[in-house]
Amino acid sequence: MKNYKIALIKGDGIGPEIIDEAVKVLDAVCVGEAFSFSYEEYLMGGIAYDVTGDPLPQATINGAKNSDAILFGAIGGEKWDQLPREKRPESGLLRFRKELGVFANLRPAKVYDELVNASTLKPEIVQGVDIMVVRELIGGIYFGEPKGREGNKAFNTMVYTVPEIERIAHKAFQIAMQRTKKLCSVDKANVLDVSQLWRETVIRIAKEYPEVELSHMYVDNAAMQLIRNPRQFDVILTGNIFGDILSDEASMLSGSIGLLPSASTGLKHGLYEPIHGSAPDIAGQGIANPIATIASAAMMLRYELGETRAADRIEAAIAKVLREGYRTGDIGAYDAKEICSTSEMGTIIANNVAAIR
Ligand code: NAD
Repeated sequence: MKNYKIALIKGDGIGPEIIDEAVKVLDAVCVGEAFSFSYEEYLMGGIAYDVTGDPLPQATINGAKNSDAILFGAIGGEKWDQLPREKRPESGLLRFRKELGVFANLRPAKVYDELVNASTLKPEIVQGVDIMVVRELIGGIYFGEPKGREGNKAFNTMVYTVPEIERIAHKAFQIAMQRTKKLCSVDKANVLDVSQLWRETVIRIAKEYPEVELSHMYVDNAAMQLIRNPRQFDVILTGNIFGDILSDEASMLSGSIGLLPSASTGLKHGLYEPIHGSAPDIAGQGIANPIATIASAAMMLRYELGETRAADRIEAAIAKVLREGYRTGDIGAYDAKEICSTSEMGTIIANNVAAIR
């Protein structure tokens, strides 16, 4: 029997509520399987600042690094907005990603059939959309040197090295192999030298994955195609700034922020979290949608722990529960049969996970 050590970082606002539901589902999925979970909780964000004076205590970094995977809720809130920048919860999160060396950000954008009307695009355009954006997270223009201001001029530098492109390309090809074996690399190779290197490197790495069908697209066209015909995409591989913009655009195809998971992974560590924040406006009311966090736990099983069947069971349970009309308030306007609390939604998904074999 394998035991996976999971670091739980609940954080602020709705973080504790949604993580508790993901744990409920993880406990249900391991029954009858050859693995189990043990959990260790660590402080981060505003709560960590309140308790220790640091939004990212060293004990959290150590604990996370010693775990098999990290499940993260959300951090931040008005209470901490006036602190100096380095003490703010959001600075702690950026530092955390850097510490963990998580260079690949995976953001799926999936449209559930039952929620096709929740999108701002027409149902016939978004029905069946299931995209995975693989974004390089710790390089490119957000980190490149030199950067700064001189008189009336300001500048940033977009830099990628071959090894940085190779490792994110491998990640994207590996994910494409687990999906429909279709990968679109997005760049601006018609204008940028750095994109030319990106494209050459991706083409070279593609030789190691002959089963994957590789295409290339300029980022301006990709932004347009995501709205025009999003079903043409499966895995999108791109750099930091292009991925930042395209993954937000893609996530909105599905209509609700409460549904979408994400992963930030590297060679050693993986951080799994919903794409939304700590939602202070609804914290403590028991109405937050836990699906994004439960789906993040499924990604953790698939991409970090290699427990593909368990991930499939969780994803199937989420789809079934939505098909049967269970909704939290945020998606209550779309074909709801029953409006559930956060905890009821977690329990219904956990019960379904137990029933799906
Ligand atoms: P947010 O994502 O927290 O909330 C935006 C809106 O979506 C709110 O109306 C909220 O109620 C709703 N919402 C979000 N998640 C929901 C869920 N699971 N179920 C139902 N409704 C949900 O964004 P914000 O309001 O801009 O930020 C609030 C705080 O979160 C800020 O302090 C911000 O810095 C922080 N934040 C943290 C992260 C993170 O931890 N990774 C990400 C984004 C924002």
